Amino acid sequence: MDINPAEITSVLKKQIEAYGREIEVESIGTVISIGDGVARISGLRDCQMSEMLEFPGDVFGIALNLEPDHVGAVLLGDFTKIKEGDTVKGTGKIMSVPVGEAMLGRVVDAIGRPLDGKGPIETEKFYPIEGQAPNVLERQPVHEPVQTGIKAIDAMIPVGRGQRELIIGDRQTGKTAVCIDTILNQKGKDLICIYVGIGQKMSTVKAVQEVLEKHGAMEYSIVVNAPASDPAAMQWLAPFCGCTIGEYFRDNSQHALVIYDDLYKHAMAWREVSLLLRRPPGREAFPGDVFNLHSRLLERAAKLSDEKGAGSLTALPIVEIQQGDVTAYIPTNVISITDGQIYLETDLFNAGVRPAVNVGLSVSRVGGAAQTKAMKKVAGTLRLEMAQYRELAAFTQFASDLDTATQNQLRRGERLVEVLKQAQYEPLEVEEQIYIIYAGTQRFLDDIPVAAVEQFQKELFTFMRDRHPEIGKEIREKKALSDDGFAKLKEAIAEFKKTFTA
Ligand code: ATP
Ligand code: MG
Repeated sequence: MDINPAEITSVLKKQIEAYGREIEVESIGTVISIGDGVARISGLRDCQMSEMLEFPGDVFGIALNLEPDHVGAVLLGDFTKIKEGDTVKGTGKIMSVPVGEAMLGRVVDAIGRPLDGKGPIETEKFYPIEGQAPNVLERQPVHEPVQTGIKAIDAMIPVGRGQRELIIGDRQTGKTAVCIDTILNQKGKDLICIYVGIGQKMSTVKAVQEVLEKHGAMEYSIVVNAPASDPAAMQWLAPFCGCTIGEYFRDNSQHALVIYDDLYKHAMAWREVSLLLRRPPGREAFPGDVFNLHSRLLERAAKLSDEKGAGSLTALPIVEIQQGDVTAYIPTNVISITDGQIYLETDLFNAGVRPAVNVGLSVSRVGGAAQTKAMKKVAGTLRLEMAQYRELAAFTQFASDLDTATQNQLRRGERLVEVLKQAQYEPLEVEEQIYIIYAGTQRFLDDIPVAAVEQFQKELFTFMRDRHPEIGKEIREKKALSDDGFAKLKEAIAEFKKTFTA
């Protein structure tokens, strides 16, 4: 073998020329105290608010208190093995979660890690969990409907894409059921649904997931789960994670719906985290920024302007109340942030009026603009009839002899209440909702026994599908029904009624 000194020198020279020193600066700190999922860390330089911190054993934390001499952080995951003196690394990154189409059909925890055993999530896209809400110029008024498939809601408390509609009620009044039915009704429509379970029992969320799977709804849905057994910090993060996943679709000209079940438990989780961080408590021992917490979250629901791609994110927060008391701190906060509320009532629920929507106390401040024209027409009369019925029913409770007009009004009201009842997992298409509500408000049901209304509805739907599909087609395609169409509908219902026997 020849040794060529010239070659060796040239190689060495090149190496020396290319020599550089790479310095990696890491921000390192030490845990000075730990307890209840909160750590105080000293020595972390340049730590940012909401920065992700890495603890030993694959545990992550979020920096929340930036003090002159230490950083206060909450820990996500199993913090039992972390002890004083452990090294903490600052990642320089703000907490982010994976987003994108790959999330569809998945069940994830509060920081986007899969919980369903279906392998890792194949996505390169990450969004920070504390995204900026779109400003006024980036938005446009809500004008497309979110069809919940629930008669009482679609007719009288319509929800639009980009709206925030609160679902409020005591425990066990069907709050979750309303949301699940809404998800089921999106099959074949272009709305992606995200269900966020906060502080629920593991079995409750599992049941939700199973229902979605059974009805083929999981393919357009995502479940974010932070059960009661998770640390408070995870429960606090879960809705932000769900919102961020939805934001990706909103920003990419798609439509998403996110359900927060529920924000009362969320406020409690935040209270726990805040108290552990030694922040001062305020009203009902909640921290002073709990209003900011929820408005920050809900402001991110929006209908974007055409320049921004016209995507939307609709939010359906749920709040559980005690004994119908909507004046407690958290309910009043969320009521004032949202664009209306659907109020579910125990008394109605127990009386068999399900969904137990109290029509008088429920409102939708922007959804009316999103209602289809045909529905708007029939719903106007319905609302009026229902209001009159409620007034009369309260007034005539003790009266014995009533005049015929009052009696008729009461008869119709009773039947309309019956019309608005709906079983779980049976969302209805707009045209079907219109048929039966129109039949009710046009007095076709007045002489039908209350107990037979359900049968009437069922058979009417079959009749309309078989004999007059053109009416349904017109409503579906034009989103409206001409006067001529309404006349035909009236004829059809009359024709059906002749054949109907209770
Ligand atoms: P929680 O306070 O425990 O979260 P919730 O208010 O979310 O309760 P759900 O769990 O949705 O209430 O419903 C309570 C019960 O009522 C369930 O057993 C459910 O099956 C039943 N239910 C809900 N809606 C209807 C309906 N429209 N028809 C018949 N049963 C219903
Ligand atoms: Mg529930």
